[in-house]
Amino acid sequence: MHNGGYQSVLSGGDDVQRLEGRDAQSANFAAGKALSETIKTTLGPNGLDKLLVTSDGHVVVTNDGASIVDRMEITHPAAQSIVDVAERQQSRVGDGTTSAIVLAGELLANAEGLLEDGVHQTTITRGYARAAERALDALDEQTTTVDPTDEDQLRDVAKTVITGKWDERASTFLAAKAVDVVLAIEQDGAIDAAKITRKAIPGSSYYDSEVVDGLVIDMDTSSTTSVSPEPGPPDAIADATVALIDGQLTIETATGQGAVSVESPEDLHAFREYEEDVYETHVRRIVDAGADVVFCQKSIDDRVRYLLAREGILAVERTRQDELEKLGRATGARPVGTIDDLTPEATGRARRVERRDVGATELAVVEGRDDVEQVSLVLRGGTQHVADETKRVIDDCLRVLTRAIEDGVVVPGGGAAEIHVARDLREFASSVSDREQLAVEAFADAIEVIPRILAESSGLNPIDAVVELRARHYDGDRTAGLALESGTIADAVARGVVEPLAVKKQAIASATEAANTLVRVDEVVSVTRDGAAHADDEHDHDHGPGGIVESTEGYPWAVGHSMGH
Ligand code: ADP
Ligand code: MG
Repeated sequence: MHNGGYQSVLSGGDDVQRLEGRDAQSANFAAGKALSETIKTTLGPNGLDKLLVTSDGHVVVTNDGASIVDRMEITHPAAQSIVDVAERQQSRVGDGTTSAIVLAGELLANAEGLLEDGVHQTTITRGYARAAERALDALDEQTTTVDPTDEDQLRDVAKTVITGKWDERASTFLAAKAVDVVLAIEQDGAIDAAKITRKAIPGSSYYDSEVVDGLVIDMDTSSTTSVSPEPGPPDAIADATVALIDGQLTIETATGQGAVSVESPEDLHAFREYEEDVYETHVRRIVDAGADVVFCQKSIDDRVRYLLAREGILAVERTRQDELEKLGRATGARPVGTIDDLTPEATGRARRVERRDVGATELAVVEGRDDVEQVSLVLRGGTQHVADETKRVIDDCLRVLTRAIEDGVVVPGGGAAEIHVARDLREFASSVSDREQLAVEAFADAIEVIPRILAESSGLNPIDAVVELRARHYDGDRTAGLALESGTIADAVARGVVEPLAVKKQAIASATEAANTLVRVDEVVSVTRDGAAHADDEHDHDHGPGGIVESTEGYPWAVGHSMGH
């Protein structure tokens, strides 16, 4: 075993392919860099869009790094390990995925240079790890405090996440909506994501998106169109009693019988009577429980719905399990498995339940008990795809706002944070007396890739931009960043281009982890499906950091530029 590298002993047939040492590294680095090259042009507010053709033939236009990576068919294990890290970035902090991948690619490129100069892989990974640790500290010095009551500041944070995804007007509009949602349920500086519901409904423009006080639930449209003739339940019920049924309101539940055989008109008549009887029992139970609204997880027979409507009770069928749970939390109702378990104690209360049409979708808006806040964001978009993509970006926005409010700190964007970190790392490097110094310097160079690309995407000369930024930071102007709209350098905080500290920190940590994983790997073993390769490794057998990367696809693997989902 040599210096932290990994070896394997293989036994197997001809169908085992191996790549060792520099060959393995080159192949991995090439894959990682290719992935980074592919998405780097999407970085920043002036990033370009990508047109993706998914394997099922759908065309998607997006410049959201996370969304692109998600849809790419990536088969190379090295590229896949970068994707995994990017996904973690996305799920933990909701932003910074493109930055993390681009930084990982740059760290790999610089590591390759160092390896060529004869620097050992362990020296590189240690130096990178030290640099990353130092970088996180440097970011702490860069923070601005977030005031959760300062809506303008929060809108700036939200806008920095979404600029470039839509035009200026739409970004401003949607950023404001995201802030409204978060502030509606903010409590003592904490945001409970369970109190937020998002729904994407096609058929209208972004500007028809709205924040709704309460929980919105999809109503199966069939459940109301078939309620005829009138009278039906009112469109809005104030101070409603809510029942939740985690089952169905059909005849089978009541009898436990699957089929009924009818042999004569008398039988049919008897059966009809029996049926009517069961239905009426159902309805009586609901009426007796005092319910004004019933949400049912499965279907409700037309006849039951009709009888309920006649009693002025709103019945909603096919409510999803998670929605039932949310309704339970909001109203205090306990979902019952069958109608027989429905008692007044199992019901809950809602300040108001309202039926509302949004586009072709019918929604039930439920405001919870007096002290329970729920808020929903109904997002519109021309097509289902546009509405879904909007929802995706808004989700990131909500996550980022949550981080900003809960952690209470943001750092300047527009490359300012990266230039500050690079400057600090170069200073730190001179205090590192061994060869790790070279890796720390390589890290400093790598992190400047962010301002370089931001400059490039806006038609600025990347070298001049970075040189000028460095000079401004050297003069003590720590928040100097790229003002991409005007092609100048300005105070990023004053311009409102700020991002949560957690996003930047996670991007650096994620990228370092991904790069170090690939620098450490010195052997790639490819095993065809019927090949019998046994990796006898004293370390981990999985695909985790430092492990052996296996594939059933055979070598060479390609970073798929064909997209699939
Ligand atoms: P990521 O997936 O890494 O979040 P983005 O495409 O969202 O990638 O770009 C984020 C980068 O764009 C950050 O470095 C951020 O500071 C920068 N940025 C965002 N808005 C602006 C702006 N108005 N001016 C300058 N830089 C900006
Ligand atoms: Mg972003």
